Amino acid sequence: MANEYKQTMNLPKTGFPMRAGLSKSEPKRLKDWQDNKVYEQVLKKNAGHKKFVLHDGPPYANGPIHIGHAMNKISKDMINRYWMMQGCEVPYVPGWDCHGQPIEHKVEEKLGTEKFNQTSTAKIRELCNKFAVENIELQKAGFRRLGVLGDWDNPYLTLYHQHDAADIEVFKAMFDKGMIYRGHKPVHWCKHCHTALAEAEIEYSDETSPSIFVRFEMTSKPAGLENFDGPVDFIIWTTTPWTIPSDQAVSLKPGAAYVAVEHDGRAEVMLEDLAPKCCEEFGWEYTPVMVDGKPYVVPAETFHHIHYKQPIFDGVEGVALLADYVGVDDGTGIVHNSPGHGVDDYFACLKEGITDICMPVDDDGNFYTGEEFGTGGPFSGMDTDEANPHIIEFLRERGTLVLEKKITHSYPHCWRCKHPVLFRATDQWFVSMDKTGLREQAGKEVRENVKWYPAHAANRIGAMVEQRPDWCISRQRNWGVPIPSYTCADCGEKVMNDATLDAVIKLFHEKGSDAWFTDAPESYLGEACVCPKCGGHHLKADKDILDVWWDSGVSWKAVCEYRPELEYPADVYLEGSDQHRGWFQSSLLTSVGANGHAPYKAVVSQGFTLDGQGRKMSKSLGNVIDPNKVCDEMGADIIRLWVASVDTSSDVSIDHEILARTSDAYRRFRNTLRFLLSELEGQFEPETDGVAFADLLPLDKLMVARLTQVQAEVDDAYSCYEFPRAYRALYDFVVTELSNVYLDALKDRLYCEKPGSLERRSAQTVLAELFSMLMRDLQPILSYTVDEAMAYAPAGCVDHQKYAALLDWYKSPITVDEANEFEGVLEASLELRSAVTKALEDARSAGTFTKSQQVRVKAVVPAEMYALLTGDKAVDLAEFYIVSDVELTQGEELSVAIEAAEGECCDRCWNYRTTVGEYNGHAHICKRCAEALN
Ligand SMILES: [Zn+2]
Ligand SMILES: [Zn+2]
Ligand SMILES: [Zn+2]
Repeated sequence: MANEYKQTMNLPKTGFPMRAGLSKSEPKRLKDWQDNKVYEQVLKKNAGHKKFVLHDGPPYANGPIHIGHAMNKISKDMINRYWMMQGCEVPYVPGWDCHGQPIEHKVEEKLGTEKFNQTSTAKIRELCNKFAVENIELQKAGFRRLGVLGDWDNPYLTLYHQHDAADIEVFKAMFDKGMIYRGHKPVHWCKHCHTALAEAEIEYSDETSPSIFVRFEMTSKPAGLENFDGPVDFIIWTTTPWTIPSDQAVSLKPGAAYVAVEHDGRAEVMLEDLAPKCCEEFGWEYTPVMVDGKPYVVPAETFHHIHYKQPIFDGVEGVALLADYVGVDDGTGIVHNSPGHGVDDYFACLKEGITDICMPVDDDGNFYTGEEFGTGGPFSGMDTDEANPHIIEFLRERGTLVLEKKITHSYPHCWRCKHPVLFRATDQWFVSMDKTGLREQAGKEVRENVKWYPAHAANRIGAMVEQRPDWCISRQRNWGVPIPSYTCADCGEKVMNDATLDAVIKLFHEKGSDAWFTDAPESYLGEACVCPKCGGHHLKADKDILDVWWDSGVSWKAVCEYRPELEYPADVYLEGSDQHRGWFQSSLLTSVGANGHAPYKAVVSQGFTLDGQGRKMSKSLGNVIDPNKVCDEMGADIIRLWVASVDTSSDVSIDHEILARTSDAYRRFRNTLRFLLSELEGQFEPETDGVAFADLLPLDKLMVARLTQVQAEVDDAYSCYEFPRAYRALYDFVVTELSNVYLDALKDRLYCEKPGSLERRSAQTVLAELFSMLMRDLQPILSYTVDEAMAYAPAGCVDHQKYAALLDWYKSPITVDEANEFEGVLEASLELRSAVTKALEDARSAGTFTKSQQVRVKAVVPAEMYALLTGDKAVDLAEFYIVSDVELTQGEELSVAIEAAEGECCDRCWNYRTTVGEYNGHAHICKRCAEALN
């Protein structure tokens, strides 16, 4: 039966469409934002207010954006939009990391290695620059499409002249403090990429290596074995045979006991604990040399400074040392030292005063040619991997090889080309962690002056700073900012001083770092073009460039300090957790190094994006979620909602199923906004139609109290960067509380009461508050959708603004303390509601009643609950539960009975009322409806 009174009711009506069609509507909206300079409008609105600076970590400018980028930029945008609504001036300058090996590698691939090697540095740099700039445009379009607001027309690029100059300014500040030194030291070296690698550029994975045991014959006899007839040997163990040509020492474990085993008339020295096992492996009988009737077992110290014959080069001797790093679980407890190819070896030798380090391997990983120690000798010109079997064969022929086998162990690999790396002592530039207390001060900043989100991130970066070796900042590549050092062409002296550094800074400000490779030093150094050692004027610019982490690391200077709209230190940095050893750290070390404090007040660390099963995304697995494609198919707001819904403080998952669920959640939010608009659009204006809080109906007061609590929770979550907490609070409120309970209960009043009546205005006032609150709380997440909804909203609900980004934060008509006073009534009402709902369900399944309006509720409630439900904040429970009547009596335990409603069903509102009768020619309506019709 159609309701003949339909015309007389206030049925919901709005132009805000139910179907979103985001993929079509968002690009138009984005264009509108760009055309009307919405980002600039927000800055203008909050100009002169307190600033909030989120300093963008620059993504690397190669390839299109991936879902990890999307999560990163959307998270930043959510933070920025929140602080914009707080009234802060929020300048956001996106940036790109432009220099570095990956781009140079792409250019090398494009040209082919042969042609690349023949191309001039200036030309290579030009091609790299072009590649970077093209990729930046590609990424920029992707980021803008996600709805990220910022100064996209004036981003920062690490290849800008100003950035080049800042690199050297920070370098100079640290150089002047004595933190930067030139050292000869083994560094991780990739022979494929021809460069030194930083710790952050090393990945560990399993590698199978030859494991060999070799006799090193002593040239004098150790104490106690003077009377032994045959030769005495150290039995050493190594997994890198190619380092034997550069062997300079062997190390024994201090304090450990060593035994000499007799074999073939020789005394073979090994760690006592490992000797029986070794002998078994070698196929030897375990027969210790007997001295005075006892096995020869002596402490390692007995061998200290005993010399032995270098196993490859005749006439060269090595020396036995003591070093703590020697392992006592594997091998023989004696390791050979090649200080040119190992960090531990290097320091063990340095401690003994061995500074003349042998390093016979060139940049390509090939042995230098020659016959002397310090060249490859018999292995001249061979690649290190190629040399391994030849060296083993050489030792076998000489009779010094005891055993050869294979082992699998964790070995460092190059992050870029994935090949195993070498250690190689080369001339490099370093930042000293300890000479001037950089390590200590950086650690102190991490612990005391920076807030970390999540808090345990402080331990992670703290431990890294505590343990890291000196920072090797030089690279042997083309695409980067040069280390500003010169070599005197007359005497070979390295030249770098304040005068040359100032000239380079000036040069880079004017012409950028390209000039280093094209301009003659005398053309810009002026008076500074002089060798302080020999007085000559022929300075040659050196070729090393700075580690790319230095470039991005000094963005606090090149960007935050140089751009007037920004501030240094920044309020917050936000990046993936891998940046604890990357950008967070290089920024920290350069800022503390130059200025003594951290470049950020807070750091937000995020996890990685994985697929639904927790696997890395890869083309071969077919599990890649491309954010550009999701925008085209579902809309950017779906990605934004996903970002808000997941706990980004650890690794997060995304796949098509998760996106489908997110899409469902989106529809719930959208439907709620639509319902609210359908009662407000064109029907209510808060400034003229709103009802003061004190005059609201009790149920409406209760809802205002509830939304005030939710708002406080959301506010707190946003300010702590806990997006999923904000999301959860909003989702539960909108879906569980509003849609299922409150909005449902309100429909009778909204549809049936007379327009303009207090009953209806009171309800609309609360809907307007709800809508206003959701506009603000959802704006950081559903930026496009909120913007869309605003077009249908009462002007007073949206600060008379057109764009969502221009909203100010929501302010509830009551305080949180006032709201909390309603807590008891709300809880009691909801508790009774559950009991009523259960009773109604039972009645429905028993077939007694079909609609809740047909029943009246008789409830017995305990004294405390009774007091709340009948007190001064009590609500109309019949309306709240959508039943005909609720009769409360006080009793011991909560119980609910339902029975048929009294009266008859009103033809207009379908409620059962005792007042139903004939009014003004209407045959069968209730008194309330009669008044509404009047
Ligand atoms: Zn490599
Ligand atoms: Zn000189
Ligand atoms: Zn009625």
